[in-house]
Amino acid sequence: MSKFFSERFSSLTPYTPGEQPRERKYIKLNTNESPFPPSTAVIEAIANEAKLLNLYSDPTLKELREALAATYGVEPGNVIATNGSDEALNFITMAYADRGFAFPDITYGFYPVFCTLNRVNYREIPLKDDFSVDIEAFVNAPENVIIANPNAPTGINLPLTEIERIVSANPERVAVIDEAYVDFGGESAVNLIEKYSNLIVVGTFSKSRSLAGGRLGFAIAAKELISDLDAIRFSTNPYNVNRLTLKAGAAALADAEYYKNNAAAIVETREYTAEKLKYMGFEVLPSKANFLFIRSDKIAGGELYRRLKERGVLVRHFTKPRIADYNRVTIGSKAEMEVFLTETEEILNEIR
Ligand SMILES: *Cc1c(COP(=O)(O)O)cnc(C)c1O
Repeated sequence: MSKFFSERFSSLTPYTPGEQPRERKYIKLNTNESPFPPSTAVIEAIANEAKLLNLYSDPTLKELREALAATYGVEPGNVIATNGSDEALNFITMAYADRGFAFPDITYGFYPVFCTLNRVNYREIPLKDDFSVDIEAFVNAPENVIIANPNAPTGINLPLTEIERIVSANPERVAVIDEAYVDFGGESAVNLIEKYSNLIVVGTFSKSRSLAGGRLGFAIAAKELISDLDAIRFSTNPYNVNRLTLKAGAAALADAEYYKNNAAAIVETREYTAEKLKYMGFEVLPSKANFLFIRSDKIAGGELYRRLKERGVLVRHFTKPRIADYNRVTIGSKAEMEVFLTETEEILNEIR
């Protein structure tokens, strides 16, 4: 850190993304990307738009807002598009700073980072022993709340009735539901935005829509909340979503069938992989996401992570004490999961 770096960032611990190694080819099951490429229509839309890159992107996000609104059954004024959903989360912590935020102790690692970056107070509410969200604690929290549903890295899903209890418990605070993984078996809270003017649903194109590298996210909420977020967006970067990604996003929404089939394939492979792992003696948390959170009495979490990496398979290991025994395994293609299962079985045989 240089002597010029602002004092206000001295306590910042930046978010650590999953490894994106270039030195050898890995089977990448560590960052919850889709194993499927974007649809042909998306690739064509990007190619056609490339010749217009000399021009700024649309700061009103009009076309994509309309496409998102049609997809989710809301009005364009209920939608904002962002540079990945990470940007939406950053805007939200800025916009609703005064009350601070509460979120689970085990959840998406960016929430505390955005709070620290924006000098917003936060409180971590421990998940229960079975790693489920402590609903009562969130019902009673005076702060704004953020809940990933399904949660990461556990994959555990809360039913919509529980989400509604949390949202409705206190209309004076903002309730943010991060639905990055909802398309793999969860139930979206989007339909509740008409009823609750304090609800913000955040979504992403990075997981089920095969667009992690395009950086596209969105938030859906009452119009007043969206105009707050637009005020932050126009004060940060009015061209926050680039031209290629705006077109890619609209084309992806028009190709809903392709992405729905891909999500169904991932769900099927997830259930298959979970069964095989349980048969090998793993504890596998019940997942409604495109990953599994697993542990075994036979091998420590870090040890399995290292041995899989030596064999060319990358999974995600977190060093946070409460989950250090676990690994998060993204569901890739069926063929990739067969390699993962075979290597895991060989590692277990080796250490026996
Ligand atoms: C992946 C993920 C995101 C971020 O996605 P981007 O749209 O790629 O920024 C947000 N929340 C959760 C819980 C995630 O797992």
